[in-house]
Amino acid sequence: MSNNVRVRFAPSPTGGLHIGGVRTALFGYLFAKQNKGSFILRVEDTDQTRFVEGAEEYIVETLNWCGIIPDESPQNGGEYGPYRQSERKADYRKYAEQLVESGNAYYAFDTPEELTAMREKYKTKENPSPQYDKNTRTKMKNSLTLSEAEVKDLLDQNTPHVIRIKVPANEQIQFTDIIRGDIENDSNLLDDKVLLKGDGMPTYHLAVVVDDYLMKVSHVFRGEEWLPSAPIHVLLWKYLGWEKDAPDWAHLPLILKPDGNGKLSKRDGARLGFPVFSLQWEDNKGFKELGFLPDAFINLLAVLGWNDGTEEEIFSMEDLLEKFDVKRINKAGAKFSYEKAVWYNAEWVKRASVDSLLPAIKKELAAAGIVADNKKIKIVLAMVQERISLLPEAVKEMDYFFRKPVQVDTETINKKWSEQHTAFYNELKTIWADTEWTKENLETSFKELISKHEMKMGAVMLPFRIMLVGGKFGPGVFDIASFLGKEEVLERVLVNS
Ligand code: GLU
Repeated sequence: MSNNVRVRFAPSPTGGLHIGGVRTALFGYLFAKQNKGSFILRVEDTDQTRFVEGAEEYIVETLNWCGIIPDESPQNGGEYGPYRQSERKADYRKYAEQLVESGNAYYAFDTPEELTAMREKYKTKENPSPQYDKNTRTKMKNSLTLSEAEVKDLLDQNTPHVIRIKVPANEQIQFTDIIRGDIENDSNLLDDKVLLKGDGMPTYHLAVVVDDYLMKVSHVFRGEEWLPSAPIHVLLWKYLGWEKDAPDWAHLPLILKPDGNGKLSKRDGARLGFPVFSLQWEDNKGFKELGFLPDAFINLLAVLGWNDGTEEEIFSMEDLLEKFDVKRINKAGAKFSYEKAVWYNAEWVKRASVDSLLPAIKKELAAAGIVADNKKIKIVLAMVQERISLLPEAVKEMDYFFRKPVQVDTETINKKWSEQHTAFYNELKTIWADTEWTKENLETSFKELISKHEMKMGAVMLPFRIMLVGGKFGPGVFDIASFLGKEEVLERVLVNS
């Protein structure tokens, strides 16, 4: 491994990028940046059947929104391009053929029907779906069983074929994972994976190894679901003669469903009613559309499977760049909790400056038909900021500052109403008509009047709040009143409610 740290994030453009994928990108990015290395986006689009239009753009937008900016990518280029595997096609056949020549791979000419027949023929109770491996390969139509002349003939006639790796028998395939330590795999359990497909495209296994080599990748961060593929990759690095350049692998723990039962899948969002995508994908709203801030999203991803060893839960990207430590990534899966995710967002909304929140909040308000100038929005936002968990909640929290509440909880007011209240509010309106409109003046005069009428604070304060706001919520009632202004407050205080 060279000491130049190069971490690649290699998603396949097969759909929306699930939060697990974004976390992989984040951890790789943090590691690269901590080591003054490069973070590379490589789009693995060799599987034409799974290619989804727009998925690459979506990945790029997601990374942008999160502030995970690749140093090299299809969009920004770099010294080791192209950064889309479909554009690197020329390289792969050469390496697959090199493997055939060195005896570590072979041509296989079996038709789909022959493969099905093989599975039928050799299936037993213990082995219900036999693989193409050291036991079956000797009975199939490949360059290990056919003569050299037959193989040449078939190739000359352009007979459809694939190239398969020849997995050795009885070997322990060993590598050291950054998170899991030493890992050994029994080669007898592996099948002869296809490396080059009938259409001349590489499979994931070949492409990933060739590209990691050619792009001088030093570290691979990927999900735990790729762990079973790792021994095949280890063999390929060895067979291609690149063993000493092999990257270090870090297989990240799974993100689990909230109940801990299995991996959180793309489908779980719709089923369980929370987002699993960063940005909207098809009909599924993403964290962004539901009103999450990128800072909060990064924070909640970072702590899915990692902590800094203290009780601290809030981490900005800057904090993470300083404190993130691959050695503290857990091996066990991390349960996703949407409630906790919302909590993180509330924390970040609280911490955000009103200026940074302004554009998004303005959009939410405008969508609800509330248009106001920036200065006013900022004053109100500062008052209600800590009451907002998700940005769309700003509408409910801010609406009554800009227009009369549509619904007023008169039931609560009426329940406690007495003649004393009528007298109190009548006098209050008279006094306030002549009061200089400052929060302090309002508060003082209000309290003096309560004493004069010998009433209880709560008995007068609550109806007052409901008249201004519509319900039992909101920040300090005199803050609200001073913002609304004299005319508006006197209009909202209805003595005969
Ligand atoms: N293209 C694979 C994916 O979609 C990448 C796996 C890897 O990082 O090796 O996740």
